Formats: sequence, C-alpha cells, structure tokens
Amino acid sequence: MKQDIKFLRMTIDMAKESQQKGNLPYGCILVSNEGTVLLKGENTINTDHDCLAHAEINLIREACKVYDHEFFKNLYNLYK
Ligand SMILES: [Zn+2]
Repeated sequence: MKQDIKFLRMTIDMAKESQQKGNLPYGCILVSNEGTVLLKGENTINTDHDCLAHAEINLIREACKVYDHEFFKNLYNLYK
C-alpha cells in the first residue's frame, strides 16, 4: 500500500512534466513485483502528433522493444 502511493505519486509527477511539455497530463510506470521501476511512459500525443501516444501505449511499445516474450509471462504492476 505504501509502495502503491509512492508509485502513484511518481506518475502524478510525470503527468505534470508531460503537461509542461505541451502534452496531456498522463504518465505511467512499470514496476516489478520486487518494487523496481522498470520503465516509464509519458503522454506524447501533441509533441509526436500521434493520437495513439498515450502514456501506457508508449510504455508498452518500449517494453516490447526491451523485453522478450518470456518477460510478459510474469506479473508486473502498471501504475497510471
Ligand atoms: Zn490511454
């Protein structure tokens, strides 16, 4: 629970940064079951001129580049 609040606060900070860059205020992070932040995703709809560039979509796109198929068999936590 305490961990959840910490991670949710991180996404709120990311959302503020995203908004300052001219995008929508969304951010998300992928956290391992051990509590390690693995990846971060920010909304980039306006700066990338891509209406699909949601924070979580950007993160998932990055995860697919960085990790192989086996990675997705394990459980991880996505905060948004
Ligand atoms: Zn979205």
